[in-house]
Amino acid sequence: MSSPETGTPPETRPEAGPEAGPETDPEAGPEASEALEVLRRVFGYDSFRGSQQEIIEHVVTGGDALVLMPTGGGKSLCYQIPSLVRKGVGVVVSPLIALMQDQVDALRALGVRAGFLNSTQDLDERRLVEAEFLAGELDLLYLAPERLRVESTVRLLERGTISLFAIDEAHCVAQWGHDFRPDYLALSSLHERWPDVPRIALTATATEATHAEIASRLGLQDARHFVASFDRPNIQYRIAPKNDPKRQLLQLLRAEHPGDAGIVYCLSRASVEKTAEFLVKNGVDALPYHAGLDTRTRAGNQARFLREDGMVMVATIAFGMGIDKPDVRFVAHLDLPKSVEGYYQETGRAGRDGLPSTAWLAYGLQDVVQQRKMIETSEGDDAHRRRLGAHVDAMLALCETVECRRVQLLAYFGQRSTACGNCDTCLTPAESWDGTVPAQKLLSTVVRLKRERNQKFGAGQITDILLGKKTAKVIQFDHDALSVFGIGTELREAEWRSVARQLLAQGLIAVEGDYGTLVLTDESGEVLGGRRPVVLRREPEKAARPARAEKSSKQRSAPVDLPAEAVPVFETLRAWRAASAKEQGVPAYVIFHDATLREIATLAPSTLAELGTVTGVGENKLAKYGQQILETLGTAAVGAAE
Ligand code: ADP
Ligand code: ZN
Repeated sequence: MSSPETGTPPETRPEAGPEAGPETDPEAGPEASEALEVLRRVFGYDSFRGSQQEIIEHVVTGGDALVLMPTGGGKSLCYQIPSLVRKGVGVVVSPLIALMQDQVDALRALGVRAGFLNSTQDLDERRLVEAEFLAGELDLLYLAPERLRVESTVRLLERGTISLFAIDEAHCVAQWGHDFRPDYLALSSLHERWPDVPRIALTATATEATHAEIASRLGLQDARHFVASFDRPNIQYRIAPKNDPKRQLLQLLRAEHPGDAGIVYCLSRASVEKTAEFLVKNGVDALPYHAGLDTRTRAGNQARFLREDGMVMVATIAFGMGIDKPDVRFVAHLDLPKSVEGYYQETGRAGRDGLPSTAWLAYGLQDVVQQRKMIETSEGDDAHRRRLGAHVDAMLALCETVECRRVQLLAYFGQRSTACGNCDTCLTPAESWDGTVPAQKLLSTVVRLKRERNQKFGAGQITDILLGKKTAKVIQFDHDALSVFGIGTELREAEWRSVARQLLAQGLIAVEGDYGTLVLTDESGEVLGGRRPVVLRREPEKAARPARAEKSSKQRSAPVDLPAEAVPVFETLRAWRAASAKEQGVPAYVIFHDATLREIATLAPSTLAELGTVTGVGENKLAKYGQQILETLGTAAVGAAE
């Protein structure tokens, strides 16, 4: 991986993953015990995860921090708890305007005094929040980055007491990354205005290059860097050759994710619309989301996805950043993502609750043609285009690897690991084979067309020639007279497609123009001259199938790890939650996560004290919902006895 030389951050030692991290240290200082007290009382959690405790202590005592932690790793607590422990208001800069209301609602449900300022508010609403801020009645204030460019906002902040600045989605400051937001560049001035206020920048996606760029642009070189393992062990990564993507997707949903919430990413607005329609026609609750829809439809669809159980969102990459819905069970890509960073960020939206989830990608030759074309016609200078090209190449290498996908993904982020056992190449190992001769046959067909006929063709026609197919187009161009006609019958059509794709991925052939015609590269000659062997990946006969039980298409996804007798109780609790969420106009998970309901269903507590021991049941929620839950459990028990 190439990375610009922007200096090495002081501390980049990968730590244990979110689950495997050290438990709370009982002998830590007074800040730690206060933080732990808040964790238990407000959030209802027993212990810190991974390096949360270390990060929180560091920030509570006034230190700056740069935190790289995967989605679902528990970044929010890293600034929320210090905001509650330190004097003053924690100011959280976030680009996710559409989600601020939900974030604030979720905090309020915990009894935390939170507010936000962004462009969606009218003057009265804004004034109210400003007054609360000045009166010291807020623990946390969420701000859109562009607010900080407004002088009145800066003056407002100067009149209050700020406990810390949290810069969420910090990769947005990096141009090398994939979500660059110019407003983020202004955040470098926070430190000049408020030199004594600690800053904590957080992101779930950063290669070494992006990491270094965040540190330098935000002036965080001297901050402590906390780099967690990026692994998301509960996500199963799978990449399949694309044949009939919509059908393949439907098959996946029916076989493995009936009734589950998920996200399907497509490259274009048109394919978003078509795919959503197709799913709806086939009985899946799907909604479209792309920048071409008007704001209200978009917001409405997002709200339904967040609030209702089991919705599938079909979207362009405009959707999803900061979506903290915990129970997204799958993320499917019907087109090749533009970079590994983007892919990792998007797939990371699955399984934030730590339960088994699927990341599935279908990709084909056409994707490569399309991406290369987009790069060719993109705005910006050559350096920019080269950067885009390097991103696509890394993505292709991931698609065509014969090794563990996770090992390769983590290596891209500079982290070493061993074969995971939970990706398609681990579950159904792909063999590698010597593809030198087929590669030479394909390349010489390209050469002959050029030399003898001065013609260029796409992979389809070249495959037909190799297979000796007398199609109309072959006859029209008299291609059956070529000496290479029919020299490739040892492979099937799908195998030739795979060869072409892999040669492209390896840079041994290139595509050109609107029709994706194949042309030689500087390196093709080495293959033709026999100086370079070509190792290819053979697609496994059958696509990887996870070790999970198949479900009938009617059945909702059964809660994982739930004893049979607790299932109806869980369903009753879920129905209660859905009704309360609707009544309050908040997403269901703001009330309780699935994991919490599952624990309640299994434990079947009969007193408030017992209920209070469940993970995710803090003081405030116990007071608010405790009685209702016990009553609901009473009904569930009676119902089960009958
Ligand atoms: P991130 O922002 O890193 O993606 P979140 O902060 O949303 O992750 O946390 C992911 C999930 O893990 C949330 O549901 C959160 O409530 C939960 N969580 C975080 N820290 C803990 C902890 N120490 N114990 C139990 N659950 C936790
Ligand atoms: Zn693996």
